[in-house]
Amino acid sequence: MTASAPLPPGVSAADFNQALKEFAGVVGHDWVLTSEEDRHTYLDAFAPGDADKHACSAALAPTTAEEVQALVKIANRHRIPLWPVSTGRNLAYGGSAPVLRGSVVLDLKRMNRVLEVNNELGYALVEPGVNFFDLFEALQAQGGKLWISTPAPGWGSVIGNALEHGVGYTPYGVNANSICGMEVVLANGDVVRTGMGGVNPGGQEWQVFKYGYGPVWDLMFTQSNFGVVTKMGIWLLPEPEAVANFAISLPDMGDLPVMVDTLRPLRLDDTINAPYTITNPYRSIMDPMSAQGKTRSTIYKGPGCMPLDFVEQTLRSRGEGMWNVGFNLFDSDKGLDLREAKIRAAFDKVPGAKVKTMRWHRGEPLAGWMRVSPVLFPLAGVDWYGGPGGHINYAPVVAPIGSRIAEVYDMVYRRYVEFGFDCYCGFLNIGGRAIVVNPCTFFNREDAEMTRRARELARVLYKDGAAKGFGDYRAHISFMDDVADMYGYNDHAARRLGDKVKDALDPNGILAPGKQGLWGSAQRVHKGKPA
Ligand code: ADP
Repeated sequence: MTASAPLPPGVSAADFNQALKEFAGVVGHDWVLTSEEDRHTYLDAFAPGDADKHACSAALAPTTAEEVQALVKIANRHRIPLWPVSTGRNLAYGGSAPVLRGSVVLDLKRMNRVLEVNNELGYALVEPGVNFFDLFEALQAQGGKLWISTPAPGWGSVIGNALEHGVGYTPYGVNANSICGMEVVLANGDVVRTGMGGVNPGGQEWQVFKYGYGPVWDLMFTQSNFGVVTKMGIWLLPEPEAVANFAISLPDMGDLPVMVDTLRPLRLDDTINAPYTITNPYRSIMDPMSAQGKTRSTIYKGPGCMPLDFVEQTLRSRGEGMWNVGFNLFDSDKGLDLREAKIRAAFDKVPGAKVKTMRWHRGEPLAGWMRVSPVLFPLAGVDWYGGPGGHINYAPVVAPIGSRIAEVYDMVYRRYVEFGFDCYCGFLNIGGRAIVVNPCTFFNREDAEMTRRARELARVLYKDGAAKGFGDYRAHISFMDDVADMYGYNDHAARRLGDKVKDALDPNGILAPGKQGLWGSAQRVHKGKPA
């Protein structure tokens, strides 16, 4: 251990060193990572402030569920908090870094086997370290008959993304919906298989039926700190006959409500059978520039939020509208014809709407726009204000009613102007019906004043949203308590329930204390300190 490494709170240096020895007995000395250089790789690369506030004391990299079991038992004996990550690419939400400074990162990326691809039954069984590229390659090696629902960007783990309620862009949408059967190591070292995985001896049913017998546990292990997921089944989309891309543009700044209200019934009756993303005018300018590696100064040099007039003129000079929506549909060619006719008929009623489409047919090479093969480009925007950059996302869930979405957007836009940031905003159709209004604040991490402003903007938006009755669906490690505070019904009954489950499963609070605002009795004293 180097002098600058933090200790887990409440643990003496002697106890910590003893625990490290015991951990090494399980994973080997090489995989107990304590050097400054190693620990540095677990800092939040996009930290909205001092990354050291969420520094880990060490990291452990096991290769099997049995090793994970042994590690949690040692952690329990020494009261050492563990922060599990699959690949730790949870960028904008904290990367690999723990909420509680001094926690030990339990890095599962060496557990990286695709255990099964089943073309007949339409699923894969994966370990935590499998990222979207690995799974894509494994599926291609089996003939490419099954497709994944890749998030943007695609370098994170399949399990990490599903556990955090990440979204893909096929009809399967939110990857947590596609989870079918998990293996989980509990805080006491016990290992459970959920659903049909509990049948002993099991057969071919673990990954085909989500409900098993009795309570369904799988989703309880998502966005929580109740266990370490060591295997997960995921349903995959059988390759369709055809895919159509839609790019629909509306001309005027006031067109956001009509965009939302036109899309809603089409999504509700499944004419639009996969998630859509609406982009605001700032995003429509910034995304293409970032994709070419261009930063803000190449188009605008003034301070503050780029003026709306300038943004409007820039888009108009390119013949583009102010509000754009994109989505892909998956069906037979004939099915797509019917869907397209309905969508065109709906947007024909909106003045100035332009609808562009393109199609892919089975047998043709996969195209980038299909978002079926993983890509990395969406990360390019972080250096918008020069680098090294970072970004913070605000992500309230809003019902897809035009006036309501416009109200939230207006609230967001005013704050971006007030805090002096370009108002980059997407509207992500998540979970079939809702829209996550998703403004993203880019900042230059070398600029302490800008970083502070970005952090303050996030806190103000959480408060504004909560006052209007909105809650976020996900949070950065620095803001997990702020977002948990939004869910205040009946004196925070939801958090009290979470804490009760936490205390029952993990009385010493060794798994990811503070995650999603769940501290449990043993670690609650650390809430709010020191970050
Ligand atoms: P990705 O690399 O896919 O972006 P991470 O590996 O960073 O995702 O995981 C995101 C978050 O999900 C982690 O910070 C952690 O809280 C939780 N998590 C990830 N993998 C596991 C796991 N196998 N078991 C329990 N929690 C996990």
